Order: sequence, then C-alpha cells, then structure tokens
Amino acid sequence: MPSDPRDESRHVTSHSEIPENPSPTALPAEDTSTAAGRAARVLRHALDEGLLTPGEPVAGFLDTDGIRASVRALHTAFAPVPDVLHTFAVKASSLVPVLRLLTGLGMGCEVASPGELRLALDAGCDPSRIVLDSPAKTREEIAEALALGVALNADNLDELDRIGAVRPDGCASVVGLRVNPQVGGGSIGAMSTATETSKFGVALRDEGGREAVHRAFAQRPWLTRLHAHVGSQGCPLELIAEGVAETYRLAEEINERLGRRQVTSLDIGGGLPVNFADDAVRPTYDDYTAALRAAVPDLFDGGYGLVTEFGRSLLAKNGFIAARVEYAKQAGGRRIAVTHAGAQTATRTVLMPRAWPLRVGAFDARGRPKSGPDVAQDIAGPCCFAGDVVAEARPLPALVEGDHVVLYDTGAYYFSTPWAYNSLPRPAVHGYVLDGETVRCAPVRDAQTLDEIAAESGARHADGLHTLR
Ligand SMILES: *Cc1c(COP(=O)(O)O)cnc(C)c1O
Repeated sequence: MPSDPRDESRHVTSHSEIPENPSPTALPAEDTSTAAGRAARVLRHALDEGLLTPGEPVAGFLDTDGIRASVRALHTAFAPVPDVLHTFAVKASSLVPVLRLLTGLGMGCEVASPGELRLALDAGCDPSRIVLDSPAKTREEIAEALALGVALNADNLDELDRIGAVRPDGCASVVGLRVNPQVGGGSIGAMSTATETSKFGVALRDEGGREAVHRAFAQRPWLTRLHAHVGSQGCPLELIAEGVAETYRLAEEINERLGRRQVTSLDIGGGLPVNFADDAVRPTYDDYTAALRAAVPDLFDGGYGLVTEFGRSLLAKNGFIAARVEYAKQAGGRRIAVTHAGAQTATRTVLMPRAWPLRVGAFDARGRPKSGPDVAQDIAGPCCFAGDVVAEARPLPALVEGDHVVLYDTGAYYFSTPWAYNSLPRPAVHGYVLDGETVRCAPVRDAQTLDEIAAESGARHADGLHTLR
C-alpha cells in the first residue's frame, strides 16, 4: 500500500510526455501502455459517442482485453497444478456480462448470497463450477445449493448439521468446511479474515477447535474439502501463504487420522492484494504461487484438487471511473473540484480514505490529459455529506467546470458495487477494447433511471403509511 498516495499521483497525472493537441482534428496518440493513455483514449471515445454527457456525468469502464490477460496470468501461474478450479469472487464485480466473460475464459464463480448465485447462473456458469461461501446461509439457501449441485463451504459446525439434515444421498455438491487458521491480520482490519477473533470459519487455535474439526470429518464421510480465505487487501503474501500452509497441514492430519484420503480438495480462497499506487501489477500471480510453494512445497503436486477465489486482483486494474467536473470552487484556502464520482461509486475510498487511496487523472472537456502546473485540490463527490471526498489536497492541473476526472484501478468493488446514498443513480458501465487506433465499447449495465430509483424507493407503497392512521 502506498503510504501517501499524493506522492504517486504525480506519476500518472503529469502528462508532459504527451504532446499538446496541435489542432482540433489531429489529436495526440496516447501511449496506451499506460493506464492514463488508455483512459484518455477511451474517455475521448466515450465523449464522442455520448456515453458521458452533462446529463449522465459518471460511468464505469472495463478493459476486456485486460481482463483476459489477468485471467491468463492466473491460469499460467497455476498451470503446474493437475486439478484446479479458479472461481471469481462475484462480489468484486457483480455484473452479469463480466461473469459471462469470465465463465467463457474458464472460470467458475464464488458466490455469497442468493443474489450472487442468481447472477452466476444467469451468466451461464455451470452449477458444478460455483462455490457458495456465505457465513449466514439459511436452510433454504443450503437446500437450493445442494439441489443445484453447487459446492458449499460451511462456515461453522452448526451449518454442517444443517447441511447433513437436508443433503440427499448421492448429492453432487462438494461440501467443505471453512477454517480460520488465525495467522493474524494485515494492515486493514476490515479486510483481515484470519485474525484471532474473525467472524469467519472454525477458529482452529481456539481451545478444542482443531479436535472439533477432526470429529466433524470423522462423522461425515461426505465432508471432503477444507476452505480458508485468509485475507485480502493489506495482507502480505507470506501471511496468506501461511494460512494456506496451516490448512494443508490440517488436511494431512485429518486424512492420516482417518486412515483414508477423505479430504480431497483445498479451497485456498482469494485475497491477492492490489497495487493502487502505480500501473505495476504487484504482486503477480507468479509471486503468489512462489510464496505458496515456499510455504507448502507439496501443494501443487496434485495430492489435493485446488480451488481459488480471486476477485480484486483480477478486475481492479482493468477498470476506471470517469466523471465530469461540475464546479471548481474555493473555501478557506482549499481548492475543491466538485465531481460526480463520490461515495456512491467510490464508497470505500470516501469512507476509509487511508486504507483505500486512489490515483486520480485530470482530463479536459474533450478528454485530453490536462497540462499545466499541479495545484493541490480536493476531488469531491456529489453526495451531501462533508466527507464525500475521494482525494484530498491532490496535486493536479487545476480542474475547471466541464473537465473530467478518472479514478484508476476501480474495476473491482467500485462502480459494480454502488451505494444508493442521496438516491444517486447507479452509473452506467461500459466494456471497451482498444483496437489499434479505434476504441470499441459495449454496454455492461445501463445507468439507473429515475423511474427505477422511485420503484426501488417504495413508490408502489406510496400510500402505505397513510393506511396506518
Ligand atoms: C471476498 C472474498 C474473496 C475475494 O477476495 P479478493 O480480495 O477480492 O480477492 C474470496 N473468498 C471469499 C470467501 C471472500 O469473502
């Protein structure tokens, strides 16, 4: 994680290497090997095509070639493993076209709610390639998953009882148990799932925890998988690898005690951190598999089938948010660009700015990179609370009305996971490819309409409270 995002923002937002636009017809050819160059190209196209307008002033963009490359990198890193299922953590980009693209690239889906399960099925993901992981599965959800043949990871021992009660003989669903190896947390508490007191999984180091897991497997021959998802953004690779190693050792111990290889697969979760400081993909999936090999030399030998559940690391760097600057103003010596990208689409960054700093790019009304000296300015959003600021005192060329900002690395957990605050509409999402000099876009999600906002805000029950008089 960058300690101070401001240091890094210069890297992306100074475009002195890009020549000034000589005439309206001959626009500069951006260096599309950089995120800033690609965003400039796509932004110009979006403005030309009316995908970003004064009336629809914010949108998300996804680089489909980038997504393909990320999936390829993941598959390549795990290529030596004889039996591996890579699932995509649907919460990282809960958009049906994205899930269909990923499914087509050989990925399964990790889901954690009936809604996510529905999206995975609508995307065409085969139920046998879906893993259900919620910590709060109802009896109904469990029965539904078992009927479909979706794999389940029970979060706790009581859930195993529920599964056992409704699981039909010959059920196709793989059933696993999530354990918490309690190896500790990373730099973001809310993203650390393997702390001493995490709400997830069976706490292995608690008194009696390990023994209870042994009993659970001894009593249930259909329980064949161990699951651990050790952390996410802010967790070092070594910590994640240590959690996987603990899980591997437990599987060996269970099988040894039972005298049979009952545990046949390990779901090692996701959680590869993402570098939000510059364009570099760091760590890579190769770094991750190297860390795993160092911690568990036998992990890739095929003794266990493997399941992975990556989310952020597959999508974050393959998306950006573009938003119009509505006003530029000053208050108490503070310069503020009021944009349309705030807490409704960059929720985590606004609510937890230290944990989730984002790079911001400055572009003019036509989508050209802005030049000029950097001045410190706040990049604020449209929401009506004072803290709706995505970047504070960020050095950027002075933004003015009609300019645009780009929030980089927001392909996961940002525009795909909007917040309904202030009844702001969910922004549209577009996929794109850069095809030589041309940009081609395809719709992923339409912007929410006012009718939809009203419908989701109880319009149908407008008289509902009157009737209570
Ligand atoms: C969120 C989550 C993931 C994906 O995490 P990323 O940090 O996005 O890779 C995987 N598995 C489980 C159980 C999760 O809750």
